[in-house]
Amino acid sequence: MAEGPGTLKTAADTRRIIRSLARQHPNADTELHSRNAFELLVATILSAQSTDERVNMVTPALFARYPDAAALARASTGELEPLILSTGFFRQKSKALLGMARQLVDRHGGTVPADMALLTELPGVGRKTANVVLGHALGVPGLPVDRHVLRVSNRIGIAKGDDPERVERQLCAALPASMWTRASDVQILHGRRICRPKPLCDRCSVRTDCEYYREVITTGRPEGRPLRSKKGTAGRPEGRPLRSKKRIAGR
Ligand code: SF4
Repeated sequence: MAEGPGTLKTAADTRRIIRSLARQHPNADTELHSRNAFELLVATILSAQSTDERVNMVTPALFARYPDAAALARASTGELEPLILSTGFFRQKSKALLGMARQLVDRHGGTVPADMALLTELPGVGRKTANVVLGHALGVPGLPVDRHVLRVSNRIGIAKGDDPERVERQLCAALPASMWTRASDVQILHGRRICRPKPLCDRCSVRTDCEYYREVITTGRPEGRPLRSKKGTAGRPEGRPLRSKKRIAGR
């Protein structure tokens, strides 16, 4: 993760930056198609290691055949796997979907609980998935942190760190709950369209606030060089492990 240097931006700056990103991406929302919390939960589980477009291609047939948790709970992995094959990791996902549906039926009367702790007890449901469902389908503020949110927030300097839960805490602390889900949506879209791994900074509305832009783009400093400190990971290019000269030389 390419963390920017310096301290975390203030809560006021973070709110202003998120509002600016929201103006740049006024239609930011989850791109997964669903009609209720159950469908969004299924779609979000399927979206792991896949794309929203790919998931949206398989879910219409899946939801037609298994419209609710009770129907899905009665399915077998053999029936399910061919339907979700193209989303990848279909064996793990089919087990997770069946386990999730059976637990919904057994413990929650077939409904999706509007509660982080109960959601993350379900097979295949981590904090990110739970936040997606809470924020988009259950009216409970949630701030899902995916790889785009990690990259964008660290580059700008409104969060610091590689750990999604830590970044979620930092962003939630700086923003009112009413902005949490939107803050995630706009950063995900910004990360997909503008602040890509190779960013399109000339099209970015928060350029003047961005630490990565100031420290990497405007200085022309090659990625991978330290920003200011010779220690730490601040200037490490994303996705590349830290390697000592000794290890590199010995390869
Ligand atoms: S200025 Fe560039 S690096 Fe910074 S948030 Fe915008 S696109 Fe990303």
